[in-house]
Amino acid sequence: MVIDMEAQSATYTDKLRCISCGAYVTIGAGSVKLPCPECGEVVGRCARCRILGKKYNCKCGYEGP
Ligand SMILES: [Zn+2]
Ligand SMILES: [Zn+2]
Repeated sequence: MVIDMEAQSATYTDKLRCISCGAYVTIGAGSVKLPCPECGEVVGRCARCRILGKKYNCKCGYEGP
């Protein structure tokens, strides 16, 4: 049996990783998920990185606050 990790991660959209620090993001605990303004890819940001105002780099090359 082959497990398709891509399909699996796409299914569990609430199991996002913070794009800045890589931590798993739990939506509703001060964390957010937002679509990249450039490509629409949904990225997660944890509460800590939001507070610190860390930049993120989308895989499309977009850099956002
Ligand atoms: Zn983070
Ligand atoms: Zn993007």
